[in-house]
Amino acid sequence: MVSPRAAVNALPAYRPGRNPADLAREIGVPRAVKLASNEVAFPPLPAVVAAIAQVAAETNRYPDNGAAVLTGDLARRYGVEPAQVAVGCGAVTLLQQVAQAFCDPGTGLVYAWRSFEMYPLLAQVAGATAVQVPLVPGDEGGPADTHDLDGLLAGIDDTTRVVLVCNPNNPTGTAVRRAALERFLDAVPAHVLVVLDEAYREFVTDPDVPDGVELMRGRANVAVLRTFSKAWGLAGLRVGYLIAEDPAVAEAVRKTHVPFGVSMVAQAAAVAALASEDEVRARVAEVTAERDRLTAALRSRGQSVADSQANFVWLPLGERTAEVAAALEARAVITRPFAGEGLRVTVGTPEEDDVFLQAFDEIAAG
Ligand SMILES: *Cc1c(COP(=O)(O)O)cnc(C)c1O
Repeated sequence: MVSPRAAVNALPAYRPGRNPADLAREIGVPRAVKLASNEVAFPPLPAVVAAIAQVAAETNRYPDNGAAVLTGDLARRYGVEPAQVAVGCGAVTLLQQVAQAFCDPGTGLVYAWRSFEMYPLLAQVAGATAVQVPLVPGDEGGPADTHDLDGLLAGIDDTTRVVLVCNPNNPTGTAVRRAALERFLDAVPAHVLVVLDEAYREFVTDPDVPDGVELMRGRANVAVLRTFSKAWGLAGLRVGYLIAEDPAVAEAVRKTHVPFGVSMVAQAAAVAALASEDEVRARVAEVTAERDRLTAALRSRGQSVADSQANFVWLPLGERTAEVAAALEARAVITRPFAGEGLRVTVGTPEEDDVFLQAFDEIAAG
């Protein structure tokens, strides 16, 4: 009998989220609302749809393995050299590449917890030791929802290769501020790569939340991870990028890529999205305004909701989380529960969020 590696056997099986069409059919309503995956509710940009249609006629060929056009556009946009950029098949694939490129078995991978669910899996597959540093309350007496940067520093030792800082943090939406993050980066030993996971950077409205690409400059052990899946609306196409201060870091990440992983369609769409940045900004402004409305609406219902700098809000419901999520699903609203901890609710359209709020009120009343 064949057997996978023990580390792979120990991985949890992938559990897909509820599909809104299936749920709607099951409970007999015309439509369910999906606020579970931090996508934006807008359809793809017109220029993106046009670019996809145009490139469709060339897909008998392999894509450009180096994604040269997209890499060049990103380099110009951020004022870096193309050699500092690595494009990948979604930011999650770039995270895998980082782990493959930097984490030998037995080395340490340090990150906050609760944070992005992919992080523990990276360590497990690489055979690295996951060092999880619990979140701390962002507000005195409040729930633990914010990175403990001193704790992360304390978690670093001689074996540590990589530290991941998710800013803003998924799923709590909180963000660390400039002075604290600069102090942290200055204190991390030079042999440790810090990856600032900024999947939600475009939704940040607090000017005191730093742009990782700016903080990266002059710090050879820092890299920034971004994605086209969230604000740019290309979740279905799978494309993200890493920008590193040291081109050798980007080079190591590029070396571990799956050949031709970023499809021709994804490359063309990302290039078109970047060229439509004004429209993207306008959409993001709608999302952040709606985020603030949703936050205020939940607070007015007596809920403790941290200020979110992302496109989702976090309800620290503790032991009630699973029950509330199930009751919401019964009312055709799909959210993302983290059992025993809290509920992550993606900002939808105002109409979708009103459906959520009404269901939430019914649950509270029932
Ligand atoms: C969504 C997300 C990503 C990446 O998504 P891709 O779709 O793989 O680009 C990365 N990090 C965090 C924290 C995310 O929430």
